[in-house]
Amino acid sequence: MLLCSPSAMNRRTFLKISAASAALVGCSPNPPKRKKHIAVIGGGIIGSSIAYHLTKGGAQVSLLERNRLAELASRGTFAWINATWAKQPRHYHEFNQAGVQSWKHLQSELDIPVRWGGSLEWFTSVERQRILQAQISEQIEWGEPATMITGDTLSELEPNVVFGNVDSVAYSPNDGAVDPVLATRKMVAAAQKEGASIRENCAVETVSTLANGQVQLNTSCGPLIVDDYVLATGADAAATISLADIKIPQRTTPGIIVITQPMPRLINRIIVAPGVHIHQRDDGRIVLGEQDGAPDNTAHQMRLSHRPTSFPDPAFAEQHASRILMTAEAFVPGMASADIEDVYIGWRPLPLDGHPVLGRSPNQPRAYLAIMHSGVSLAPAVGELVAKEILYNASAATLDEYRPDRNFEEIRRY
Ligand SMILES: Cc1cc2nc3c(=O)[nH]c(=O)nc-3n(C[C@H](O)[C@H](O)[C@H](O)COP(=O)(O)OP(=O)(O)OC[C@H]3O[C@@H](n4cnc5c(N)ncnc54)[C@H](O)[C@@H]3O)c2cc1C
Repeated sequence: MLLCSPSAMNRRTFLKISAASAALVGCSPNPPKRKKHIAVIGGGIIGSSIAYHLTKGGAQVSLLERNRLAELASRGTFAWINATWAKQPRHYHEFNQAGVQSWKHLQSELDIPVRWGGSLEWFTSVERQRILQAQISEQIEWGEPATMITGDTLSELEPNVVFGNVDSVAYSPNDGAVDPVLATRKMVAAAQKEGASIRENCAVETVSTLANGQVQLNTSCGPLIVDDYVLATGADAAATISLADIKIPQRTTPGIIVITQPMPRLINRIIVAPGVHIHQRDDGRIVLGEQDGAPDNTAHQMRLSHRPTSFPDPAFAEQHASRILMTAEAFVPGMASADIEDVYIGWRPLPLDGHPVLGRSPNQPRAYLAIMHSGVSLAPAVGELVAKEILYNASAATLDEYRPDRNFEEIRRY
């Protein structure tokens, strides 16, 4: 098994490989003299992180975004950076822990405000609470700092939150939350500063392979010849078929995200209460996410079939936001005076088994796929690992479970 050794040019970057990406095998011992030209298709948080890490690693990068940066899932997201009990099985849990750690590094590298402090989660049903207790016990067995906390400790951590009659609450102290649009813009600005070309309003339509092995991307803003390209195209399932000749089964689901105007600090942690998720960003804005998706009925299916990211009428947006706000107010009464700033409908990029898809298409070896949920939690780790796999023509063992040619079994998890 050949371990990759870094070129002098990339040594600094290489030394920063996190524990998760330590084992890169199959690396080319002689990196090419000419800079690799790599296109990243999709300017959400995943494409932006990959573009940033590729540029940092010495590639010539073109980031191509059909619309504007971070306008789809990376805007309509709750943006909780987490690796809690829900991240299963253990390899995926560890990958998410690497994601959480990689945010600490990226945060200081690019001066991105991340609110740390952990998450507090509980349920109404006694049976579900019992399961939560077991799930936290498993976390403890896995060496995580997660714990169940009660009474006075809860009021000390969150004096403005009403926990009701619940006996105990799961506390995952490593979690944080971020403004995903700001983070995306910061990564793109840093990549651009290092020479990456950023093209918004530029859709990649088809791909042709050239005789010399390069590929030509035919885009709405002209042709572009590159050595490799990354599909960070999110929930657009058609993109992987037309651009990388592979179908990735997804069960994309919608979620409503409400953002309030800035408020004095009310909460310090991510509150995962029955029916609603709540956190307050560094800028004072409170972000609310619903736990359940849209009701599964024909009327909703029809309205949602073209995947809108906003409501057809501002009155509907207002209605939904007020409903979610009311649920939140029961837990954070101080939110009664909150004013709504934005309401989004986000669409989760969600491979059928709930796990990321990371790796080259078996049918178009120049195409590297990066499609996933929990993309906010994973973005910096994914950016770093994908950049290394592409630049060193290597394989990171951490990503072995997430290759595009696996069998996708439907599992109802995020
Ligand atoms: C309601 C909701 C709540 C969530 N909560 C969390 C959470 O708390 N924590 C967490 O970690 N994750 C969460 N997620 C998931 C997370 O937001 C996503 O995994 C992440 O944003 C995916 O980023 P992305 O860059 O892959 O996708 P996107 O942000 O959707 O970006 C894909 C981009 O590709 C572009 N594109 C597509 N096709 C083309 C083309 N042919 N040419 C050019 N551009 C193209 C699109 O225009 C788009 O901008 C949530 C998601 C939703 C919807």
